[in-house]
Amino acid sequence: MKFQSINFTCEGCGAPLRYSPMTNSLRCEFCSGTEDIPLSSETIEEYDFHKALRFLETHRAKEITKKVKCSKCAVTFKLTPYSISSNCPYCDTPAITNFVKDITPKSILPFTITDNEATRRFKKWIGSLWFAPNKLKEFVDGDRKLVGYYLPHWTYDSQTYSRYRGKRGVVYYVTVERTVIVNGRQQRVSKREARIRWTPVEGAVSNSFDDITVGASKTISHAILDNLSPWDTSRLLPFDEKYLSGFESEEYTIGLDNGFEFAKMKMDRVIRRDIKRDIGGDQQQISSVDTRHSDTTYKNALFPVWIAKFKWKDKIYNYAINGQSGEVVGERPYSVVKIIVLVGFILALLGIGFYLEEYPHLIEDIFAWNP
Ligand SMILES: [Zn+2]
Ligand SMILES: [Zn+2]
Repeated sequence: MKFQSINFTCEGCGAPLRYSPMTNSLRCEFCSGTEDIPLSSETIEEYDFHKALRFLETHRAKEITKKVKCSKCAVTFKLTPYSISSNCPYCDTPAITNFVKDITPKSILPFTITDNEATRRFKKWIGSLWFAPNKLKEFVDGDRKLVGYYLPHWTYDSQTYSRYRGKRGVVYYVTVERTVIVNGRQQRVSKREARIRWTPVEGAVSNSFDDITVGASKTISHAILDNLSPWDTSRLLPFDEKYLSGFESEEYTIGLDNGFEFAKMKMDRVIRRDIKRDIGGDQQQISSVDTRHSDTTYKNALFPVWIAKFKWKDKIYNYAINGQSGEVVGERPYSVVKIIVLVGFILALLGIGFYLEEYPHLIEDIFAWNP
């Protein structure tokens, strides 16, 4: 399917404008002219989860190939089916296209961390890694670029009521007689020992969850994307295409229903913590939890992420920097050589220690040695 590229151009010189996290506005890279992005007065709404699921069941979105014509050099290029914006591979002019999914983002967290700041934090993080291969450090110092992505996320609100069964453990002490051997003789002594008394319990806890966020993109692994949280969703702004200009952005590839399964796992950890508190005592066991969700709502929003990919020994390592908070998360390769050198060094030290123990006069001999 062919899409017309949506573009924003500088009033002063006609060059393309890109969103600049530094000025929080559109900026022209030729004449440095800026154009403010008007703040919309629209409120950020929550949408009914079950209503949306019923709607999606009757609207199966087809995967289509997106082709977009560059507004500057007129070349037509292909985008991945879930890409919303990118830059022309020939002339680097920003290109923004239309959404094809039935649920589109209604809100966005614009980048606040600039490319330079993200690079600085990334270098600092890599520098702090022990055993990282030198190649990785060289890669960071090289001219590689971080790529800014607006990645789709789901946020969920839900009221939960969880019935549980379990056991409460209370510690008590008993005095027991024990036979011990003192100076080769058997003796009877009394000792205090801890025991736990378990009593079956059941009950219920209620929770109110607000904006549990789940990444809806497969561009980077779930482990990395989930570790980029927390996101400050109180700073969400009504969606505006202008924030996408010059950045990569995507539609969701993890559906509303699958996203909710991940959200339920996150909520479950909080529910179990609350159940343990509700059980009380010194120790707790939970044997069953039955959670009911009500008033479940969702939002689909775009969150800013700087991404770097590093290839080492045929494996791709991903790094991501939260474009709102600056937090760095990544998979780290280990340099086997560096580890072997360190292990060798430790063994050498142990060896010297062994020698000194065996031959305590060795050090004296070394110092006394006077050829
Ligand atoms: Zn200009
Ligand atoms: Zn072009």
